[in-house]
Amino acid sequence: MVAAKHCKKCLLAELDNEKLLADVRQAVDRLSERDRVSEDIYSKRLAVCKECDYLSEGTCNACGCYVELRAAMKMGKCPYSKWKGLKE
Ligand code: SF4
Repeated sequence: MVAAKHCKKCLLAELDNEKLLADVRQAVDRLSERDRVSEDIYSKRLAVCKECDYLSEGTCNACGCYVELRAAMKMGKCPYSKWKGLKE
């Protein structure tokens, strides 16, 4: 896959910013099992973000977070409740 440098509809995983992506992935990896959503819910949350106009270069412009970190957290919420109702 060719990484895009400036893509408003990209997750960090799709951008050419290896250091930032590594930092976010490390933060996700540090979450305990208790605090982390399943891979299925994580993927579904990120799929919603990918279709959202607030996503800009891996960041949610509604709350300022890196969505790939927030989406991994059980306590993580979409500021517009777009993840509400997602099920395994
Ligand atoms: S967290 Fe919510 S508002 Fe932010 S990019 Fe994802 S779906 Fe959009």
